Amino acid sequence: MTGPLLAVDLPAGRVLPVVAAPDPVLSTPCVDVDPRDPSVAQLAADLLATQRVSPGCVGLAANQVGVGWRMFSVDVSAHPKARTHHGAYVLVNPQVQEASRNERGREGCMSVPDFTGDVKRATRLVVRGLEPVTGRELIVATDAFEARCLQHELDHLSGLLFLDRVAGAHAIYPRQTYQEGGPGSVG
Ligand SMILES: [Zn+2]
Repeated sequence: MTGPLLAVDLPAGRVLPVVAAPDPVLSTPCVDVDPRDPSVAQLAADLLATQRVSPGCVGLAANQVGVGWRMFSVDVSAHPKARTHHGAYVLVNPQVQEASRNERGREGCMSVPDFTGDVKRATRLVVRGLEPVTGRELIVATDAFEARCLQHELDHLSGLLFLDRVAGAHAIYPRQTYQEGGPGSVG
């Protein structure tokens, strides 16, 4: 635990419906937005609220609720595989600054409810993004499960799903159940 990252008051969040593949909003790259725009603060709150009520959900990208903006929420704090984590937060216009030490691991996705897959991701990661409301720069230096989650969400903003990253059909598995904190944790 390195302490919560998000230090702003957001409006009350609304739970939004999550879009499933093959909806085109998921395969369309998202666009940068102004973090100080009140509608960005509202969406940040909505992403966190939607994530909170979704079992096993560790991250949610804006286009997963149908909005093509470059922002996502993350909260891996309750996940047993998480080492470093930064609580619940939202990054706007995020960019990878450093990535190293690739490792294969299992991923699931709220937008791909029937499958999980093995994806190679960096286990050491530095991501920069902007804080909703203030526009302040946030730097997330993390590892392990939070790093995987961030890369999964960054892919969403580029119009990519984990299915686009698996080595082949042999690395895709049918999902049995949504398990809180289990291998089926979803982003
Ligand atoms: Zn996902």
